[in-house]
Amino acid sequence: MTAALDAAAADPVAEVEPLLTIEDLSVRFRGVDADVHAVNGVSLELRPGEVLAILGESGSGKSVTLRSVMRLLPRHAVVSGRVVLDGHDILSMSERRLTDLRGPVVSMIFQEPGLALDPIVRIGRQITEMIRRHERVSAAEARERARALFERVRIPLPERRLDAFPNELSGGMRQRAMTALALSARPKVLLADEPTTALDATVQIQILLLLRELQETLGMAVIFVTHDVGVAAEIADRVAVMYAGTVVEHGTAADVLKRGAHPYTVGLMRSTVHGAVRGERLDPIPGAPPALTSAPDRCMFAPRCAHAHAPCLDGVPAERDASASHRARCVLVGSGAPAIAPA
Ligand code: ADP
Ligand code: MG
Repeated sequence: MTAALDAAAADPVAEVEPLLTIEDLSVRFRGVDADVHAVNGVSLELRPGEVLAILGESGSGKSVTLRSVMRLLPRHAVVSGRVVLDGHDILSMSERRLTDLRGPVVSMIFQEPGLALDPIVRIGRQITEMIRRHERVSAAEARERARALFERVRIPLPERRLDAFPNELSGGMRQRAMTALALSARPKVLLADEPTTALDATVQIQILLLLRELQETLGMAVIFVTHDVGVAAEIADRVAVMYAGTVVEHGTAADVLKRGAHPYTVGLMRSTVHGAVRGERLDPIPGAPPALTSAPDRCMFAPRCAHAHAPCLDGVPAERDASASHRARCVLVGSGAPAIAPA
């Protein structure tokens, strides 16, 4: 026991079993003229109590990755790889058993509350139904839990707000209500898909601080998707950078955001004033992301990369150690070639 604790203290991250493991996940959408290879061989781990930010430009496959964990993808999606969540093999389990996990094991908040909140049902009722779907509690008890959740997400006049319909609340309050709904079954893993992007800057900061506080007090593990370097710096323990459906770099937030090794990450940081300013949009590097009409067969960033050379076109680069706590998919990393100058 003591020995185990000592070992855990020596290397807290490596000792803890992941709560979520995504292994070689690929998602392709069948299209009329061409398929879209939205996610290509993504592998990620999330440990209890950890916040992982997935950072990348629009269209890089962040949402599709998150939705795969909830198995909320349309029928024309072709999915391969493995998602193991709290010991459950998500991609192969029955829809009925999956429904039991959505809520108490994993739940999701979205950029648009409209994706989670039913517009024609009072918010309080949506929350009490969620609670009672997963736990045997009386209606009164569920209502009290809902009220406490509204207090927890700092919705003023919670009793009155519980009886409101979603469209009767402001954008910020709706976002808080959706967060309360997502927390109502006490998930171990919370998936947050750009939950602050649609809000005004000040409300955005309030919600971000709230989410961080909730994560700490409830001890949840969180995957936080964002295109905003400053938001990732604010909230994440670890960061994964996605480009064209691939994780090009991942590791501790400090390593990835301050000592990025992949030219895409470096470009991303350079484009953001002082490296991490909240609210800056990523618009970093000349050129545009590639069409995703075929599976990657080379470094997908090569056409935009100032350092590209022949080996970059010779298959998808393997992950290489960029430091003890961070890996990157770039042939230059650890090759002895001149280091890419940091921003
Ligand atoms: P991000 O969240 O990083 O902005 P997404 O994960 O939403 O990007 O999308 C990745 C790619 O998958 C995009 O090219 C997008 O157009 C495509 N895509 C997403 N959902 C669907 C869908 N339901 N049908 C077809 N293509 C989709
Ligand atoms: Mg998205």
